Amino acid sequence: MNILVINAGSSSLKYQFIDIDTQAVLAKGLCERIGIEGSMLTQKVEGKENLVREEHMNDHSDAIKMVIEALTGPEHNVIPDMSKIDAVGHRVVHGGEVFSGSVVIDDKVMEALKDCIPLAPLHNPANIIGIEACQKAMPGTPQVGVFDTAFHQQMPAKAFMYALPYECYTKHKVRRYGFHGTSHKYVAQQAAKMLGKPLEELKLITAHLGNGSSVSAVMNGHSVDTSMGFTPLAGVPMGTRCGDIDPAIVTYLMEKEGLDAKGVDALMNKESGVFGISGISSDFRDLEAAMETNERAKLALDMFAYGVKKLIGAYAAAMGGVDAVVFTAGVGENTKITREDVTSGLEFMGIEIDKEANNCRGVQKDISAPGAKVKTLVIPTNEELMIALDTAALVK
Ligand code: ADP
Repeated sequence: MNILVINAGSSSLKYQFIDIDTQAVLAKGLCERIGIEGSMLTQKVEGKENLVREEHMNDHSDAIKMVIEALTGPEHNVIPDMSKIDAVGHRVVHGGEVFSGSVVIDDKVMEALKDCIPLAPLHNPANIIGIEACQKAMPGTPQVGVFDTAFHQQMPAKAFMYALPYECYTKHKVRRYGFHGTSHKYVAQQAAKMLGKPLEELKLITAHLGNGSSVSAVMNGHSVDTSMGFTPLAGVPMGTRCGDIDPAIVTYLMEKEGLDAKGVDALMNKESGVFGISGISSDFRDLEAAMETNERAKLALDMFAYGVKKLIGAYAAAMGGVDAVVFTAGVGENTKITREDVTSGLEFMGIEIDKEANNCRGVQKDISAPGAKVKTLVIPTNEELMIALDTAALVK
């Protein structure tokens, strides 16, 4: 069974074409600058030269047509025709409280997706356009929605409610939703395999540390708490996002700096985080390179690691213990200094890493010190594969 995985943004569309039986990525690609001058498609197939098509794409429907042409065309010859696409799995950022798992998309689901737009006004409209474009180009091919929020939908109310007037929840749906759910779920499943235990019997802390970062407490196979909140701005400091701050700072800065809602939103989302602290970069590679000589780069890295460390303590308390801590995503998979800083001092909890083993990048590996009571694992995330697996399971 072949699954086309689509991640549609407002002017871009990323895709992977995956053979479920072998889990091989047969092709992957990116349509850029959709609806803007200079649009192009780039497709990669292992062992072959990249296919680059510079052709105008008016909208996402044009992009999907080009993706199908790239997959079926003579250059890469991935599949002979469209009928070999058995189903399409779409990444959808926000599923609100309606979706606690992936779903086959029908008219009713589309309505519910549109109802979620106010919760993710920057992302969901693009995801919906991607779905509609595929429905148009491939009528009859099942489409599945896989939500970033779904894995967190079983959090208990004490974890997802904010202590605001209850009506903020009932009237405006203000609550913690959590994000990166597809990634947290994937690495939790992989961790269970590595530990040789059923996921349903494990207490895991999964740290998805990338440009955006979130940490989750995964107990008995479900997320029971997570650091991102109503939006992906909450939690640990991120590339350019501030993470948790005293909420009163918002109105204070609005007054002091004369900022309106948009201005303060931009300050917290785009000018903060490790970028705002260091003043040099949101990229951890740059910060690592600068940390010896630049105090603020060092401070940014320290604040980030401290934020993650505190959540490990909090989530171990929330679950009444922890069997393994998992590091994933760009920073979690690649940055040994961060893994070392996050775990140092947690020996009292049974968390201890082996410095030699920790000297790795982008590989699945147990980096725990011999005899450590709590395992520390590095697991490269694979959200596309998770989406493909969910899609295949639903349409089989
Ligand atoms: P996104 O949230 O955009 O999906 P990623 O998970 O791809 O982000 O993570 C991107 C971040 O990972 C970059 O900002 C960079 O700081 C970090 N990163 C990627 N590769 C490396 C590396 N080799 N060493 C250190 N950091 C890395």
